[in-house]
Amino acid sequence: MNDAIKRLKLVQKRIEQACLAAGKPPDGVTLLAVGKRHNAVKIIELNKLGVRSFGENQLQEALHKQQELADLDLQWHFIGTCQSNKTRAIAENFQWVQSVDRQKVLNRLSSQRPDSLQPLNVCLQVNIDQEPQKSGATPEEILQLAALAHGLDNIRLRGLMAIPRVTGNLNEQHESFRKVKALFETLKDEGHDIDTLSMGMSSDLEVAISEGSTMVRIGTDLFGPRES
Ligand SMILES: *Cc1c(COP(=O)(O)O)cnc(C)c1O
Repeated sequence: MNDAIKRLKLVQKRIEQACLAAGKPPDGVTLLAVGKRHNAVKIIELNKLGVRSFGENQLQEALHKQQELADLDLQWHFIGTCQSNKTRAIAENFQWVQSVDRQKVLNRLSSQRPDSLQPLNVCLQVNIDQEPQKSGATPEEILQLAALAHGLDNIRLRGLMAIPRVTGNLNEQHESFRKVKALFETLKDEGHDIDTLSMGMSSDLEVAISEGSTMVRIGTDLFGPRES
């Protein structure tokens, strides 16, 4: 087996086992392959093995790969910082954006989404541990953003995305993910029809799934170390 197959099988096994432990069906969590700083050839390799959803956090790099891979039936997720001067390209070239944290960006994404395309799938990014250096809205802002998204024609609100603070303390990891899940439930209680809780990366996917993640974003453990 080559490295790509080995890594994919291992990640899939980890996800399955975490699902079982959490009492979810083994296919209850979607795998998003984060190909940032890996070339298109590696994406083709993973796609041949059945992976369809890919995440990128740098717009130029993503657009370049999308051109190279235009023949493949891939689903692209933008997971990087959403600057307002990039919203048009994001609205035109991605099926999902997981990193929306401001009203201005949300409004622009809706108005710039081409009518010929399905509404843009959006996850709001919450800065759950209120870290000053990180993107993401506060929980209070998330409630307002969700209400705004609800009224926008070309936006389909799917849920939340979070990148909790880095800590070696397992209890703290659980606590962060639990807070995101609680906010997700609050949105549902408010009547939002959402289905996606995007949390968990290479190092903490098991903890995230145990706290209710429905989508894990995996880079390193699928592709190997990133090229600099
Ligand atoms: C890079 C990145 C990931 C993947 O991280 P790994 O630790 O390599 O699995 C997930 N989410 C976001 C938003 C990222 O930027």
